[in-house]
Amino acid sequence: MANIPATAAGIADAVQSKEVSATEVVEHHLNVIAQRDGDINAFNLVTSEHARAAALRIDNAIASGAAVGPLAGVPIAIKDNMCTRGIPTTCSSHILEGWKPPYDATVITTLGAAGAVMVGKTNLDEFAMGSSTENSAFGPTRNPLDTSRVPGGSSGGSAAAVAAGLAPVSLGSDTGGSIRQPAALCGVVGVKPTYGRVSRYGLVAFASSLDQIGPFATTVDDAALITEVIAGHDPKDSTSIPQPVPSLRAAAREGVQGMRIGRVTDLPEGAEPEVAARLNEAFAALESVGARIVDVTLPSLSYALTAYYLIAPAEASSNLARYDGVRYGMRTSAADTNAMYGATRAAGFGDEVKRRIMLGTYALSAGYYDAYYGKALKVRRLISDDFDRAYAQADVVLMPTSPMVAFPFGDKVDDPMSMYLCDIYTIPTNLAGHPAMSVPFGTGAHGLPVGVQVLAPALGEVAMFRVGGALEAAGAAR
Ligand code: GLN
Repeated sequence: MANIPATAAGIADAVQSKEVSATEVVEHHLNVIAQRDGDINAFNLVTSEHARAAALRIDNAIASGAAVGPLAGVPIAIKDNMCTRGIPTTCSSHILEGWKPPYDATVITTLGAAGAVMVGKTNLDEFAMGSSTENSAFGPTRNPLDTSRVPGGSSGGSAAAVAAGLAPVSLGSDTGGSIRQPAALCGVVGVKPTYGRVSRYGLVAFASSLDQIGPFATTVDDAALITEVIAGHDPKDSTSIPQPVPSLRAAAREGVQGMRIGRVTDLPEGAEPEVAARLNEAFAALESVGARIVDVTLPSLSYALTAYYLIAPAEASSNLARYDGVRYGMRTSAADTNAMYGATRAAGFGDEVKRRIMLGTYALSAGYYDAYYGKALKVRRLISDDFDRAYAQADVVLMPTSPMVAFPFGDKVDDPMSMYLCDIYTIPTNLAGHPAMSVPFGTGAHGLPVGVQVLAPALGEVAMFRVGGALEAAGAAR
């Protein structure tokens, strides 16, 4: 069989120049999935027939000389919380079992029009609540670099699929770190674009004011390519930003000459020593290629986690009220309608989801609203103000993605607070609505990958990708 390029950009070029067919590319990846996914469990569903049909359409279009999109023949794995018409979308929850969405999410339509070929739906922490993919109702995903360890979460399936070569690129969603943290733990690139950059239409809502879709890739160039394709205004999402999308692939190659890179002097502690060491090396590497390091402070960051665990559960408790046994998925029968609602939700949701619903309902209840939810919104504003001040001095800010490398299964499942601490460095970005990406940068404990996180102001994707590209180049040269 022909040589299949490893990157999405390489595949798209090879398919368009007829060096390989889209069918060969898809068959190759379906083969790798068949060989490896038994150990990894990245996929809830492999959409082989759908993928073969899509690949054949691309090959026919190319044979007839018709124009094809920038992702012609590129296999992509999709987190199983994005709606796919007629194809089960489970959010890794029993409560959605059997449900087939009657429509495609906008990202699915856009990717299809660009020629991408969906190869399957990937595993996640139930309703994207978690940092290890251990909260999936269908069993955990394993980290391809060490199958005794978690891949991170909640988009663990999408991160593992790319890290294991099951697909060159994938999509995840990031509410508090769910793209960046698993990217760091699996040694791949993960991007959370600005809130509103990518349409959320058809993304099953967890916390609507925080959720954002973005890509996983093995290279910064591929991550830029996918972001360029899925970004852009969508009238079906009222929070979507009507702004043109700049060339991010060009930005990734531009270099960082003259850029100001912010170092946070009052960063909340807790990163493993090797993670902190890699971050320091990242600063030095950027400085050596022409960037300037400037000190910034983000004093409210230490309150971000607390604010997030009021705001996100509050929104989740409202969003998840719709799963009532009537409109979607499973139903547990009971004596009357009210009892049916209760029995369905008791049987359908897992423990973490129930914990969030209870936390959120409590935070929103009359008498506590001002003390908890209202206070959290004020903290959210303070964090945004902190970032505004920092970005008056710096073009981007660098910090760790995850305080720790991939941890063993069972390490944190019984202690929600230690699991929540995984996201201490990723959550502030979501609260502010800003973009951030994780770029692999060396290794830490046990030789496992470390990610460095590049944060930028709203719509600052160009600056973010310039630094991401430079970090990747510096990491490769180490
Ligand atoms: N781990 C965080 C949580 O459990 C973030 C999840 C996410 O970004 N979807 O809420």
